[in-house]
Amino acid sequence: MATDTQDCIFCQIVAGKVPCFKIYEDERTLAFADINPVTEGHTLVIPKAHAENLLDITPGDLAAVHQTAQKIARAQLACLKATGVTVVQLSGEGANQVVMHYHVHLIPRDRTKDGLDKFEWESKPGNMRSIERIAGKIKDAL
Ligand code: AMP
Ligand code: ZN
Repeated sequence: MATDTQDCIFCQIVAGKVPCFKIYEDERTLAFADINPVTEGHTLVIPKAHAENLLDITPGDLAAVHQTAQKIARAQLACLKATGVTVVQLSGEGANQVVMHYHVHLIPRDRTKDGLDKFEWESKPGNMRSIERIAGKIKDAL
């Protein structure tokens, strides 16, 4: 079932009606900090045009989102104490997708220090000042 874009939180962010800690944007995509970060620097990349998941996003937007994801991942590794990036995309309620607007999670990692499992983590409300500061750091590293 398609989400009504009026009720979609990420469409509201694209429209500037809901604030975000913006890291990057171009014609087709937007990258911003996740407010419940799994690790420091956890970033979401979305298409500006609403698409629910991997099954319905257009090929052009899919490519654009992943090109932006590559830019952000490089910046994360350049400016954070991370040695890897876990890239996660949940498609469909059965996969635990909560926000029904296509998004890629970029989770900076250092498995020797962050104590996280390969595929199982907890996201918790973050400290907004810290999220803003780290988002700025990634933005500056682009
Ligand atoms: P999921 O749909 O399960 O892949 O995850 C949705 C993600 O969006 C979660 O990690 C939330 O913390 C994140 N999220 C939800 N609302 C916002 C928001 N307003 N700003 C930033 N991140 C958000
Ligand atoms: Zn949307």
